[in-house]
Parts: sequence; C-alpha cells; structure tokens
Amino acid sequence: MKILVINSGSSSLKYQLIDMERESVLAKGNCERIGIAHSNFIYKAHGQTIEQEVDMPNHNVAVKLVLDKLCDKKVGVIASMKEIDGVGHRVVASGEAFKKPTLVTPESMVLMEKIKDLAPLHNPAAIVGVNACLAAMPKTPMVLVFDTGFHFTMPDYAYMYAIDYAHYEKYKIRRYGAHGTSHKFVAQEAATYLKKNIEDLKIITCHLGNGSSITAIKGGKCIDTSMGFTPLAGVPMGTRSGDIDYSAAEFLAKKEGMDVSEMLNYLNKKCGVLGVSGVSSDFRDLSDAAEKGNYRAELALNMFTYGAKKYIGAYSAALNGVDVIVFTAGIGENDDVVRSKTLSELDYLGVKLDEGKNKKCPRGQIAEIQAADSKVKILVIPTNEELVIARETMHEAKLG
Ligand code: AMP
Repeated sequence: MKILVINSGSSSLKYQLIDMERESVLAKGNCERIGIAHSNFIYKAHGQTIEQEVDMPNHNVAVKLVLDKLCDKKVGVIASMKEIDGVGHRVVASGEAFKKPTLVTPESMVLMEKIKDLAPLHNPAAIVGVNACLAAMPKTPMVLVFDTGFHFTMPDYAYMYAIDYAHYEKYKIRRYGAHGTSHKFVAQEAATYLKKNIEDLKIITCHLGNGSSITAIKGGKCIDTSMGFTPLAGVPMGTRSGDIDYSAAEFLAKKEGMDVSEMLNYLNKKCGVLGVSGVSSDFRDLSDAAEKGNYRAELALNMFTYGAKKYIGAYSAALNGVDVIVFTAGIGENDDVVRSKTLSELDYLGVKLDEGKNKKCPRGQIAEIQAADSKVKILVIPTNEELVIARETMHEAKLG
C-alpha cells in the first residue's frame, strides 16, 4: 500500500510517497517557484537528492513531473502510477464545513470552494493541488486532511470568541487551531512510548516551529489550543505577532497609514521574533545573536519562552493537572535552550527538567528529559505530519 501525500502552497508543492506497510518514506521532495521564473524541482530517493531547474508554469505540470520522477526507470521508486493507492491532501483551514478527513468528491470540492476565504493564501492552493492530481490520476481515491481536524473536540466555551453570537452563527468566526495532525501524532507517540493508554493521560503538546502552537489534550482529545481563527494567534512566532490587543493594531495602522490587509500582512510577516529582534525569524540566528549580547535577540527569546510557559500554565489549569509535556517541530525538537527556559520555574506543577539530558537530547528520536523526581514526564518527539495524513487517507478511503 502506497500513499502520496501532497502539501500545496500557492507557488509550491511538497510531496512524499509513503510505503504504509513499513510506514517509511520511499521518495519526497518539493516543487518550488511554480508559475515563477526559475522553478526548482527537488526529488529525494534512494539516499540521493536531485535538484533541477525545470519550467513549471502551473501545478498540473508540477504534479506530472513528480509522477514521472516517481516512475522513472533509473531514479524512481515505483514501476507505474497504478502503484499509488491513494493521495492525501493537506488543507490548512476547514471552517465548520469539514470536521474530519473527507474523500475528494464533486460535492466536497464545492464545499472547498466555499471556504477558500478562510485561508486566502493556502486553501485556494490546496484546491489547485487536488485538481492537478485529479487530472493526472482520475481514478485514484483522494482525501482532504485538515490541519484543524484534531481540534473539533474543543468544548464550545473554549472555541467561542466573546463576540455577538449572531456573528458566530452567520460567519462561523471561532477558534479552529492548526497543526492538528502534528499534535495528534505526538500525543499518540507519547502514550505509546510511555506504554500508557492515551485515555488516561493529560498531555500538553508544544509544536514550536516557524509557526508555533500549544495544545491541551485530555484522554486523547483536544480540549484547547493556542492558535485561533487563523494561525496568527497564540505565542509570538517566527514572523507572526501571536496574541495582541486589537486596539494596538488599529492605533499603529492609523499612525503608519496601513489598511486592514496591510496590517494583517504586517502582523503575519513582519512581527514575531523577527520584528522584536530585528535579527532573524530563525532561532539559530537568534541564539547566536543573544550569546553575543544582542539585547533585542535575547528579548525575543524571552518573550517566546515566557509566552509558551504561560500557555503551559493555562492548560495545566484547563486539564486539572498535567502528566506529560511534549516538545516537537523545528525549535521544540532541536533547541534545548528554548525548552529549558520554557520549563524553568514550573516546579509548582511538578515539572523538573534534567538539564544534562535536555542538552544531550539525541536528534530524530524520542527522548525523555525530565529529572528523576519530576512528577511530569517531559518528552521530545519528532513530528511526522505526512504520516498522519497518509494514515487518515488510508482510513477514510477504506484502503488496506
Ligand atoms: P519548522 O517550522 O518546524 O520547520 O521549524 C523551523 C524553525 O526551527 C526554524 O525557523 C528554526 O528557527 C528552528 N530550528 C531548526 N533547527 C534548529 C536547531 N538546530 N536549533 C534551533 N532551532 C532550530
């Protein structure tokens, strides 16, 4: 059983072909700068990476290139397209239109059209990606898997905003969250690693990457999450502001002569640790600068870790305690200083890090980094969103 996972952006298309018997990646890569001059095609298989500048005027051409390479006699991993049993498409925003992974059908694609404006950069790209795959593989079952899907178990008092209820009803404005496939994956991995039933655990998962979100999980179900209607909310991120008083945004917009969409572009792309530090959105650059005494880089790091700590405190309250804290994604998996700062002075919760284990945490595998007398387990778990998408695709398309 082989599942192709597609993650379409407006000018990119990431892909992975996964062998589901072994849950291993056969080939993966990225089509970059689709529709822009000097498009770039990256293909990784058999331990080799091929990078080519190829003309990719649209997503249809990109999908065709991917399929040709996967079936290539020399560098391919399958004999023909028929070996692809299903295609899973990552979709960023679902609104309330989709509460679980959904088979691609003419009806579901009509619904997808209706929720384009929930994620104006990402959802239209997902539609383009689905249509490009359908054009190349019209008979292969395809499934839409939503970043928001895992969060639909939140109770109403957690997902509602305190706005006029009529506006919630009319426009479905509420908290949806994001990174759902990642939070779901690492929570399940944590339970398996600890040899516990997930039903019995209270878990806080910290997905800390370029975009960061923190989720409270009780008995395997999300009860709250830090991102909101869009991924702009929550902790400060690489370039996103995270939570902010809207009046401050209005004040700034008036002073700088920005309209609403300019303001949102600013909050999404020019704020976060990049805006505060003036150095970079990349935490490796921030740590280097902070070590050399750059005050604003240090401030950005402190704001990020303090923001994460506050969510851990809030979600411990929401969960009535916490058994496991999980760190995942680029920063969560790799940055021991961020983990250490985030978890400092949480001893009142029974959270105690083993600084030695934290520093020496091996890359790419699950690690347990709490001190011997910590009441709370602290785990570092590599995320695998593509595998969750592939599993959901198999399940929803009733394959295997
Ligand atoms: P992601 O969005 O999960 O790919 O995470 C990307 C972010 O992870 C980058 O912007 C970096 O800030 C951070 N990152 C990746 N590797 C490291 C590392 N070795 N140490 C610190 N931060 C890292």
